[in-house]
Amino acid sequence: MSKGKLLVISGPSGVGKGTIVMELLKRRPQASLSISCTTRPPRECEVDGVNYFFLSWEKFGQMIEEGGFLEYSKHFDNYYGTPASFVEEKLKSGDVILEIDVDGALQVKKVKPEAVLVMIAPPDRQTLVSRLCGRHTEPEDVIAKRVERADYELGKSPLYDYVIINDVLDEAVGEVEAILEKEN
Ligand code: 5GP
Repeated sequence: MSKGKLLVISGPSGVGKGTIVMELLKRRPQASLSISCTTRPPRECEVDGVNYFFLSWEKFGQMIEEGGFLEYSKHFDNYYGTPASFVEEKLKSGDVILEIDVDGALQVKKVKPEAVLVMIAPPDRQTLVSRLCGRHTEPEDVIAKRVERADYELGKSPLYDYVIINDVLDEAVGEVEAILEKEN
């Protein structure tokens, strides 16, 4: 019997959802963040088992066959997935936050309708494009792909339970916290 809420947070790359999630975890230490599996290679500073479980394509495929994922999706030429057992175990002791893309989030909603879906949106499109360009971690064509993907992701907002605009970080975190309070 699970004790916590499953909170699914999505939003385009560069919208600041990672920062919101980290702030939320500071305010609610009893909540935990699911660690996803991916076939994407680690970026500098990323640590296996902390940011992601970095898996080979073979191992990822094996987990799909074994039904080991609550959801998984492929984008930017790599697979990303939420390990089901990890989430079920964490839900026994409190809220669990998934920071995943829209395709995955909608899969979660299908198998777990009680999950709460929150979309983090930018104040406007230009702000997002500037944030993506300002990162300097990716080449231009990758940024262009991310902008296109952002439009796709934001287009799925009506399917979410809540949409939060990340303009002032503190306010956005407060809004997500209020949603968790309300849903609990
Ligand atoms: P990045 O490669 O920048 O870390 O992540 C790219 C995208 O993959 C982000 O939109 C992120 O939310 C999404 N993502 C991360 N983990 C998962 C997951 O377990 N499942 C799905 N469906 N998407 C994920």
